[in-house]
Amino acid sequence: MPEARIVWRKTQLNQRTVAMLIAAEKIYKSQFGFLQGSYNKGGVEASAGTHDGGGAVDIDVVKKSPAQRRAVVLALRQVGFAAWLRTPAQGRWPYHVHAIAIGDKDLSRGAATQVLEYKRKRNGLANRGKDDGPPGYYAMTWEIYLKAHPVPVPPAVPDSSISLAAMAYARTHDVMTGAWGADRARVIAWAAHPKVGAITKAETLPRAGVSWHLHFQRVIRKVQMKFQLPVTGIFNDGMATLMKRYGYTITA
Ligand SMILES: [Zn+2]
Repeated sequence: MPEARIVWRKTQLNQRTVAMLIAAEKIYKSQFGFLQGSYNKGGVEASAGTHDGGGAVDIDVVKKSPAQRRAVVLALRQVGFAAWLRTPAQGRWPYHVHAIAIGDKDLSRGAATQVLEYKRKRNGLANRGKDDGPPGYYAMTWEIYLKAHPVPVPPAVPDSSISLAAMAYARTHDVMTGAWGADRARVIAWAAHPKVGAITKAETLPRAGVSWHLHFQRVIRKVQMKFQLPVTGIFNDGMATLMKRYGYTITA
């Protein structure tokens, strides 16, 4: 199966390469600008066919400092690219970082050769010079990187909507069933979630002798205290804004 091609930021690439670039940008802490992507047969003569297939990308570093250029190369190498800084002294091209995604299924013959050269710690140019980039990642691949840095999956929220009417009702009523009862339970469970930590697990249920509506007000007050909101015990706009930040939808 060939790689899934995709045009991303006006650049022809494939999905695997894009995922790698996103990870590298995260390490570099800034976006890259692209001079050339992949599947560009006959596009740039100086590239000698290395961009004919998949996994190849040229990143613009003309306006970057030497330290920034090194950082771009390093970030790309860390996620599994064979990457080198190319300088105007080496060929008829501007300063750029030439990168080949190691293990891409669509590599051109020239790109595959460059990957082998990278693993031999060479510069991937016709002169077969020594690698001039940061060492330490010659055996890295995207798959190895992914295993060490799994993409965090947000916790599944089967129903994330909270009704303001239900919240108003909960402040003054004890018995709540159906959708509104579920909304109340959801807010209390959220408050007790380790990432929120406004109440403890033991505080999700009212203490003996305490009615549910007073319990609910107490939970809201504790949330408001935790997040330094005005402490009213009322599920107001501030509460709604807060829960939206956590991915909830607030409905009338
Ligand atoms: Zn290139």
